[in-house]
Amino acid sequence: MFEIRQYPEFSWSNSRHRTFMECKKKYYYHYYLSHNGWLFQAAEENKLAYRLKNIKNLPIALGEVIHDIIHSQLKAYLAGETLASEQELIQQVKDRLNLAFIHSKKHVDDWMMKPKKFQMLHEIYYYNKLEQSDVENIKQKIDVCIKNLLSSKSYNTIITDENIHVIEAEELKTVYFDGVKVYVVLDFLYRERESDKWIIVDWKTGKQNKTDRDQLALYVLYLIDKYKITLDNIIIRNEYLQSGETKDYTLCEDDLIEARNLISDSTEAMRRFLAQPSINKPLAEDEYEETFSYRCNSCNFKQLCDGKREE
Ligand code: SF4
Repeated sequence: MFEIRQYPEFSWSNSRHRTFMECKKKYYYHYYLSHNGWLFQAAEENKLAYRLKNIKNLPIALGEVIHDIIHSQLKAYLAGETLASEQELIQQVKDRLNLAFIHSKKHVDDWMMKPKKFQMLHEIYYYNKLEQSDVENIKQKIDVCIKNLLSSKSYNTIITDENIHVIEAEELKTVYFDGVKVYVVLDFLYRERESDKWIIVDWKTGKQNKTDRDQLALYVLYLIDKYKITLDNIIIRNEYLQSGETKDYTLCEDDLIEARNLISDSTEAMRRFLAQPSINKPLAEDEYEETFSYRCNSCNFKQLCDGKREE
């Protein structure tokens, strides 16, 4: 049954950790002030924070659309349906991004009422325009990402190798470590029957980042917990769709200890910002400091901070 909670449930994720490290105020807006902002009777400040939380910039929107397209394509393959061609996939991505643009320009009122159902691009919300250079850049990225997807190792293995068994695709899963609820989304997971290797595939539309490996360690912890398999049977793979590079990793016990320590240290640090940890009640808003930096220009909550820098 749908239950209205006064405070959100606490759960840990890599993106929550990154937001917490980046700016405490942003963390507060995203994980606390926006809570219940979807309710008709919510206070205007909660509604506003919820709306802002749902804004996406063009690169993020592109990443989400490409992930959806990969998911649909692989789902179609598993269902025995005809696969879309490269040109059709490129067109699907363009259509979806055009829709995001149309929503941002012409459905502002609808988005205000239903920020999950309608879309708002950060560039339009804050600057009311898309730079021509950004549009050209995105068009180029779409072509490159789709081309690299279709020639990627994982995609071709999945659609040609009969020796594999698909286990999970793009599902949000939860797992508990030391009593902390942790969210994990695996892009794709399959098992090679003969070698009994489990391969976790993570499609990346952005550039390589040093935190990519931390994210993968979390997937491994999840797999070991859920399927009771051993570390040496797991291969984790990043498919970088912009560069066309495939990177396979195997982790060692020390990587897993580090990942567990990260979850526990980060959770402890977050709990220091709670007035009542048992119900995840946050401290007063003023206790969450702003970290002003170049990142503010692309922050979803910029509107709530504009003007504060000079105070
Ligand atoms: S605009 Fe800057 S200071 Fe304000 S929440 Fe975002 S990152 Fe933090």
